[in-house]
Amino acid sequence: MSDPQLLQREIARRKTFAIISHPDAGKTTLTEKLLLYGGAIQLAGAVKAKRARAHAVSDYLEMERERGISIQSSVLQFPYKGRLLSLVDTPGHADFSEDTYRALMATDAAIMLLDSAKGVEAQTKKLFRVCKLRSMPIFSFVNKMDRPGRDPFELIGEVEEVLGIGVYPITWPITVRGQFKGVYHRLLRQVFLFQQVAHGAEMAPMQAHDLYAPELEQAVEEEGVKQLREDVELLDAAGDALDTGKLARGEVTPMFFGSALTNFGLPQLLDSFVEMMPQPAPRASDKGAITPDDERFTAFVFKIQANMDRAHRDRIAFVRVCSGQYERGMKVRHVRLDRDIRLTNPVQFLAQERTVVDDGFAGDIIGVFDPGIFLIGDTLTDGANVKYAPLPQFPPEHFGRVVMVDPMKRKQLKKGLEQLAQEGSVQLFRPPEGREGESILGAVGELQFDVVKHRLLNEYGADVRIERLSWNIARWVEGEPVPLAELESQLYGYGALDVHGQPVVLFKGDWQLETCAKAFPKTRFVELGAGA
Ligand code: GDP
Repeated sequence: MSDPQLLQREIARRKTFAIISHPDAGKTTLTEKLLLYGGAIQLAGAVKAKRARAHAVSDYLEMERERGISIQSSVLQFPYKGRLLSLVDTPGHADFSEDTYRALMATDAAIMLLDSAKGVEAQTKKLFRVCKLRSMPIFSFVNKMDRPGRDPFELIGEVEEVLGIGVYPITWPITVRGQFKGVYHRLLRQVFLFQQVAHGAEMAPMQAHDLYAPELEQAVEEEGVKQLREDVELLDAAGDALDTGKLARGEVTPMFFGSALTNFGLPQLLDSFVEMMPQPAPRASDKGAITPDDERFTAFVFKIQANMDRAHRDRIAFVRVCSGQYERGMKVRHVRLDRDIRLTNPVQFLAQERTVVDDGFAGDIIGVFDPGIFLIGDTLTDGANVKYAPLPQFPPEHFGRVVMVDPMKRKQLKKGLEQLAQEGSVQLFRPPEGREGESILGAVGELQFDVVKHRLLNEYGADVRIERLSWNIARWVEGEPVPLAELESQLYGYGALDVHGQPVVLFKGDWQLETCAKAFPKTRFVELGAGA
């Protein structure tokens, strides 16, 4: 039995989060800088070089290199002011996939990163919706302030309107004639002046000034000071103190301004983040909600990184600890298989190095070697017979049809596709009852199709081509059923069943979704599938 005080202390120390942003907003830059401030690396920019070197030193990494699994950046854990921060990667760009969404199922908070010139962009919106689904606390960082950007009041308006979340600015930018001068910290009531550091490789100098300090007028000019005092008055008049309950439920987001490239504004973000981030919320299981300080060890699998190398079919499962304590060598119950197992090679990801796990508490993410026994969503416990709610199925935006290059391999193909869909590597839709036809693949990111093609060939011996189909939206059907088999003839979309047999409609664009929704007003077309 774990010591309850130890549990409380360890849980309070852990901050597990993700960064949600649109490509190019500066996520990679911010990640490096967080490691810099966490003392995990000396010089930002060295991350990549260090990664390359690290390959030689650890056996685990050697195995990884041989087998071609790249799990380097899936989780980064680093200390910051007595806390243990775990940053779970949300791959963007070409590797945007369901794993990106699933990462948000394993975190307790998110930092929403916005480009000050671009505001709320498409991918940020999608990721935000997933955070909202979990009522997850969200902190906002407006990046690239060193360049001309949008008016901060206008940005806040956009966030509130487009995302439907209240904004509470904690720092506020000082700009004079389009030039960024620094930020005012509304809680500390201090001004931090912006100084460009060489390539942002070291921590930015941090000198605080009072709002009425004479040096301020020198640095910011009269114009800037006047504007700042007006802004501050306006902000103070507009809002009460930050409502921590609303923060915890993701109804209001504290906002910070700065520049990841030049490191400016990051300590202010980090300090508030570790102070204000609420404790992890309880998680729903089939036996009711489980709190992080529950003495029973519970965890679930949220990501499986498959091996791309044909010689090795093994993979790495990423496990999120939700309650209790994991101890080295402990037997755990694989609830779905109803069997006790020992986790093989359990590792943590402390600041670029990988270490064998001694113990794990709620918030920790552990990587374990998976000989093919895990599926996404699997629950692990210390023997307790509880199961976490399945992870939802996220809306695919790319669709394809599998064409066999060698028709003799039909059986292998069928088996392969079913297993890949089960694993959550791709979604599989089939025609509704009463209609013949081929299965349709659905993916959140295009790269998933390449992975499927590769794995079908290497693991199942099935050589295929994937032909693209023109749908780009999928919605699960809730409420009053629709005649799935007849939708297509009415141009309402393509009715199908997902891998769990739940009804789905595929659409060719917003217009078609809207037309269909109008035609069936008692039906809800929802973005997430329930999983099983
Ligand atoms: P990601 O796609 O979100 O990971 O973005 P990156 O971190 O790769 O950044 C995209 C581009 O924006 C790069 O050229 C960065 O150097 C640049 N960038 C990131 N942060 C800042 C910033 O604070 N100011 C400026 N001017 N450029 C930035």
